[in-house]
Amino acid sequence: PDSNYCFGEGGAGAYSDGKLYTRSKKRGSVDKILSVFHSHGASEDILVDAHPHIGTDKLPDVIKAMRMTIIRHGGEVHFNTRVTDLNIDGDTVTGVTTTDGTEYAGPVILATGHSARDIYMMLKERNVDMEAKGIAVGVRLEHPQQLIDSIQYHNPHGRGKYLPAAEYSMLTRVDNRGVYSFCMCPGGFIIPAASSPGQLVVNGMSPSSRGTRWANSGMVVEILPEDIDNGKADDPLKMMKYQEDIETRFFEDAGKTQNAPAQRMIDFTQGKPSRDLPPTSYAPGIHTARIDLLLPNPVASRLQKGFIDFGRKANGFLTNDAVLIGCETRTSSPVRISRHPENLRHIRLNGLFPCGEGAGYAGGIVSAAIDGERCADAVYQSLQ
Ligand SMILES: Cc1cc2nc3c(=O)[nH]c(=O)nc-3n(C[C@H](O)[C@H](O)[C@H](O)COP(=O)(O)OP(=O)(O)OC[C@H]3O[C@@H](n4cnc5c(N)ncnc54)[C@H](O)[C@@H]3O)c2cc1C
Repeated sequence: PDSNYCFGEGGAGAYSDGKLYTRSKKRGSVDKILSVFHSHGASEDILVDAHPHIGTDKLPDVIKAMRMTIIRHGGEVHFNTRVTDLNIDGDTVTGVTTTDGTEYAGPVILATGHSARDIYMMLKERNVDMEAKGIAVGVRLEHPQQLIDSIQYHNPHGRGKYLPAAEYSMLTRVDNRGVYSFCMCPGGFIIPAASSPGQLVVNGMSPSSRGTRWANSGMVVEILPEDIDNGKADDPLKMMKYQEDIETRFFEDAGKTQNAPAQRMIDFTQGKPSRDLPPTSYAPGIHTARIDLLLPNPVASRLQKGFIDFGRKANGFLTNDAVLIGCETRTSSPVRISRHPENLRHIRLNGLFPCGEGAGYAGGIVSAAIDGERCADAVYQSLQ
């Protein structure tokens, strides 16, 4: 539980795909973030590419180099040291307590990512103001890369020798909610991304070569807090519990293993089981399941309609050669920890700076990095 695709050095970014494009360009300098990655070993191409990509094989070394920079500048990195509590005195967070009982003095930048459910529960117990946030849930969809190449390059022979593995981006609206592709990984693979026992969650990544036989993307449906319990429950953790319920259902369908439930794409849209399944990049293996029934109905029914729409937009995209593997639930934080928009301090507690994706203020590597810089500046200002 302390070391997986989401937790450990480099966080969720360490074994991510390393796509570095972002839509949040107004909050800070994207170029500066890219140059930090480049000066720590990422390829020069990221400084000029429209869709910069590092690749999961290259990221761990970049992150180690970043650790060395932190240490060279007087920082400390404590491995195997989990924060278990906030030390609060009146309306001030004075520091944190860690697993072995050691206390560290604040101010505290809380940047524990979107999967630190123990932290969200601790914050709720400590009455730290936060609110449920909209998320997107669904599945990973995997096509043969050759098929995506022929669709996107309009060539039945695929991409040829010189062109890169083709990407795609799909978006539609069904019954008033967004249905869209997320974190598309050309030439990549699907991976198990649970962060605790009893969960089954998948995600995707690709190496720098983007050279595998498969193309995958998250195919997800937007779910808002008012969609759950008819919007009545004001529990800030209700979206987190919604995620957890789906992950547990998939885990149990897998016989409490990581052998993920799967269904061919057209079979899913028609609500029927797949007799067999195509080869997949997902190493723990897949088994035939009714994903249309395992997902909550508002998600499954919208995805079914969304896929039919995507099939109309891209001829050949809706095919039984593609397989859905579930579930994909960790697309963003299910919680937003309240903070002042200007000084980035927690809305009520001095000395606490909620930061990055887990606090609900970022949705990817670059936006989390920009938010990290802003929080560091805010702490500096608060100490003046
Ligand atoms: C498989 C995968 C592929 C992805 N691909 C991309 C991509 O291509 N492009 C992109 O932009 N984004 C991608 N993402 C998302 C991206 O990785 C995250 O948006 C980003 O890492 C968020 O950064 P963060 O610093 O806010 O949190 P995180 O990276 O989640 O870091 C949180 C850190 O906090 C630590 N932590 C948690 N709890 C505690 C505790 N109690 N005490 C101490 N430390 C704790 C964790 O160990 C971790 O190191 C991907 C994610 C995954 C899982």
